[in-house]
Amino acid sequence: MLDNVEFLKEKMVLTCKVLQKQGVLDGYGHLSARLPGDRILSTPHMPPGKVALRDIIVIDMQGKKLEGSGEPNGETPMHTSIYKVRPDVQCILHYHPDEVVAVSVASQGVKVVANCGVHFYRGTPIYDSPVLIRNHERGDKVAATLGDRNAVLLRGHGGTVVANDLDRLLRLGIDLVRSARIQIMTASLGLVKTHTQAECEEMVRGHDRPDTNRRYIDYYISEVVD
Ligand SMILES: [Zn+2]
Repeated sequence: MLDNVEFLKEKMVLTCKVLQKQGVLDGYGHLSARLPGDRILSTPHMPPGKVALRDIIVIDMQGKKLEGSGEPNGETPMHTSIYKVRPDVQCILHYHPDEVVAVSVASQGVKVVANCGVHFYRGTPIYDSPVLIRNHERGDKVAATLGDRNAVLLRGHGGTVVANDLDRLLRLGIDLVRSARIQIMTASLGLVKTHTQAECEEMVRGHDRPDTNRRYIDYYISEVVD
């Protein structure tokens, strides 16, 4: 188990570095991963792209720190609330990319206008408040807004994506921003076509193939390691 925990921590650090290199993380935002026994690994209260292995902390399902020298992030309740109601979710990314914030205030969610958006064809509901998620009551409301989807937008604030492993989370984290960016680019073009549900479902089925993320993940990791 210890080896698994160290592996998870290394992967979290690498994931944060990739997201920072891609310009979707800044001084804020956080990443967490579920451990057995109602424990959670989390980046601490510091810029996630600067987190080293030794900085990752362990918290419990109430957000209380169990291990590590850093402090939990102020928005930790969002993570614990989602883990409580989504047993399928193994990791969570919360961030504030400009493109996602822009789409969140247009009350429309992310539309599937490009192939990178097909992960989100079931909708990206909007939590309708810009106030930070610093207590369990708000965390529960974000979790309820997310429902059984893989992304929720927070109006004027940012977005949160969830996945069952860190490779998938990295892909969703980058592709949500790319999708929002393309949506904004197409906004001035008049009527644009969005992918149909059948097209999205067919493409998402292809994502279940073994190692379907490998080329994508390897490319982004190669951008941050020598
Ligand atoms: Zn936030």
